[in-house]
Amino acid sequence: MPGINEQPPFKVLIVGGSYAGLAATLNLVDLCQGRKCRFNVDEAAKAPEHKIPVQVTIVDERDGYFHIIGQPLAIGSNSAASTFWQKFEDIPALQSPDINHIQGRVESVDCKSRTARIAQSAGDEGQKIIEHKYDYMVACSGLRREWPSAPKSLTREAYLAETSESAQTIENATAGVVVVGGGAVGIEIAAEIKMLHPKLKVTLVHSRQQLLSSEDLPVEFKEKTLEMLKESNVEVVMGARLQDTVPADESTSAKLRLKLSDGRELFADHVINAVSRFTPTSSYLPKEACDPEGYVRITAGLQFSGDVPNKEFHYAAGDLACWSGIKRGGAAMHHAHFAVVNIHQRMMAQLYKTETKFNELVEVAPMMALALGETAVGYFPTMGLTVGDTIRNMFFNDDLGYGSKLFDFQSQSPWNHC
Ligand SMILES: Cc1cc2nc3c(=O)[nH]c(=O)nc-3n(C[C@H](O)[C@H](O)[C@H](O)COP(=O)(O)OP(=O)(O)OC[C@H]3O[C@@H](n4cnc5c(N)ncnc54)[C@H](O)[C@@H]3O)c2cc1C
Repeated sequence: MPGINEQPPFKVLIVGGSYAGLAATLNLVDLCQGRKCRFNVDEAAKAPEHKIPVQVTIVDERDGYFHIIGQPLAIGSNSAASTFWQKFEDIPALQSPDINHIQGRVESVDCKSRTARIAQSAGDEGQKIIEHKYDYMVACSGLRREWPSAPKSLTREAYLAETSESAQTIENATAGVVVVGGGAVGIEIAAEIKMLHPKLKVTLVHSRQQLLSSEDLPVEFKEKTLEMLKESNVEVVMGARLQDTVPADESTSAKLRLKLSDGRELFADHVINAVSRFTPTSSYLPKEACDPEGYVRITAGLQFSGDVPNKEFHYAAGDLACWSGIKRGGAAMHHAHFAVVNIHQRMMAQLYKTETKFNELVEVAPMMALALGETAVGYFPTMGLTVGDTIRNMFFNDDLGYGSKLFDFQSQSPWNHC
């Protein structure tokens, strides 16, 4: 066995630098540097006995970490947008010789040779393809979402221009804003706009008779959400589809006339279509790794379970992974934590012949917290229905959770996951 100084670093590829990707990176580096990892809340847990040389490469199409949970606020607030997008080079926790990042898109992965092809923009010369060899890979690339659920831009500068335009349009919409789609994103966008502009008429239009109609959550949670949305003076139109949007005539000061499927008409200056559309980003992986919808099939230990070679070196975490429960940022980070603990166990066994002890996910029941401007509502199996400050302070505060310890990717030193 080579001495630790002669051992070449394990090359770990992390695809996606958001909640799962950063949680995977930082917890793995903690463990390899001989520290208890930052998400480990077990006080009795000990730091690893040995250090392990590691080189983690994060590949993301974006030039930084974007707190997507804050997007419903950021589309109407320049200062929130500026806070929520941080370039990787400005994140203190990532400034380690063990971590580097590439802004690019993973185009394909060959599990057999453990090589990823990464397309990187090369300015005027078009695109450059990098062939990147790895020992372990964690796929953390989540779901492809469209505006307004996610940014269109890939750089901080472009994102600030994008949100500045959107914030300006909302501010100028004196005849009102209509948000279409009563899923989690539409509800939060309507509530955040109303909080930012209390005098603005904000209307949420949903085609079903119940909000959050596609979520497997208790009826009392859905009803409470509707009640609280109305209390915050968001107008809610249920059971009608938006059929057509046409320029309004001179009889009204509004710019747009909206025709609904039940014959009703609404007038507004701006329409935001928040009907959620998303697809898994797994096109770079072999088809055999994924289920028919494109989610990566995993074991409870987060290892690939489809019919691909070298499964023990391939993991998936976060929204991209096929696991029970509603897709959530907290769950994505939990997946990533367990995935890298298991990778670290394999590295230890390979170098020091230690016995492996793997962490395993358990099945997750549906749960959700929703920010509703100045207030919030949540449903968690352990707490039941929770409303107001308790849930708002737990998850969101004034910045949709950006500053919470849970999403603290700032500290260079480990923090405790809550
Ligand atoms: C508007 C909104 C509000 C939300 N609110 C909440 C909330 O309040 N609480 C909560 O828990 N959850 C919330 N969620 C869900 C939560 O955001 C997701 O569960 C979480 O983002 C999943 O994290 P992830 O790291 O798996 O993937 P993502 O956050 O989607 O990150 C994936 C990353 O991979 C990159 N990427 C994708 N494809 C490639 C590729 N081929 N090559 C390189 N990089 C790639 C992307 O650029 C991105 O940075 C919300 C989601 C939305 C859209």
